[in-house]
Amino acid sequence: MHLDDQTTALETSDPGQAAPEWTSARARAIFDQPFMDLLFQAQTVHRQYHDPNKVQLSRLLSIKTGGCPEDCGYCSQSAKHGTGLKASKLLEVQRVIAEAKRARDAGATRYCMGAAWRSPKDRDMDQVIAMVEGVKALGMETCMTLGMLDQDQALRLKGAGLDYYNHNIDTSEAHYDKVITTRSFADRLETLANVRESGIKVCSGGILGLGEGAQDRVDMLVTLANLPEPPESVPINMLIPIEGTPLADAAPVDPVDFVRTIALARIMMPKSHVRLSAGRTAMTDEMQALCFFAGANSIFAGDTLLTADNPGEDHDMRLFAKLGIQPMRRDEH
Ligand code: SF4
Repeated sequence: MHLDDQTTALETSDPGQAAPEWTSARARAIFDQPFMDLLFQAQTVHRQYHDPNKVQLSRLLSIKTGGCPEDCGYCSQSAKHGTGLKASKLLEVQRVIAEAKRARDAGATRYCMGAAWRSPKDRDMDQVIAMVEGVKALGMETCMTLGMLDQDQALRLKGAGLDYYNHNIDTSEAHYDKVITTRSFADRLETLANVRESGIKVCSGGILGLGEGAQDRVDMLVTLANLPEPPESVPINMLIPIEGTPLADAAPVDPVDFVRTIALARIMMPKSHVRLSAGRTAMTDEMQALCFFAGANSIFAGDTLLTADNPGEDHDMRLFAKLGIQPMRRDEH
């Protein structure tokens, strides 16, 4: 696309989120533009809705690690893979609140709590609800990822004040069963619908590096952008290959292709926070800077994710200082 065509492209890209109706072909045409045109379009859309020099910081804690009955091919926590990860019980509520307080004092505005479950059991719900209430009382936004949720569970979490629920679709519908067989793509969408109907904000994205092609990346974003309301938060992860998982030897993602996917997510879901999630340890500062330019405006801070390494706070703050980026305050979300 030539620069002269940009205005037309922006007008037809429907930056409002009311009825995007993205087709695969329309999204692919944007994705395949010359890289500089794609970045220019993404940055232009980004500036319509976001401060380009602010990035939101979330902190992630594993509240129940390992022993998961699902078979997600990338995950260290599946009981079906021989990763040697030791399963642990659900953490005590007070421990979670103490960790959240430390994260808040270090600048995180959203606290994400993840459990390696197919779905929460009724006996766990009271404890999980107490965690949401305790973290909310610290003045933080709360997010949970607990697997599949039914309508009642979603409503109970909403009643406790949960702000966001994360449930990734991971990849395109066409590629999905090459990565996960224990629950379907439709199951994922049903959980997202239950979360949305409960009034909790939706966090949903995927992972690049699962053996998918460019069309799968585009189609994953088409699914998200065409939800009745797009997710408020769209995490884009880069696979961290883990020994013992079926995807341990997956081919690495080309950095330019990764940035293209971030840019397309920004253009298709202009109001959402696009989160640069797992995989940042394998990204150079320059690649992360390009991701921010392409419209990523949220990261996980702290030196661990659920079980994988993450750049520490010091490194992130040095990178922010180099780029003139400020952490977003909670009232700026
Ligand atoms: S990604 Fe989640 S659901 Fe899948 S195996 Fe890992 S912990 Fe279980």
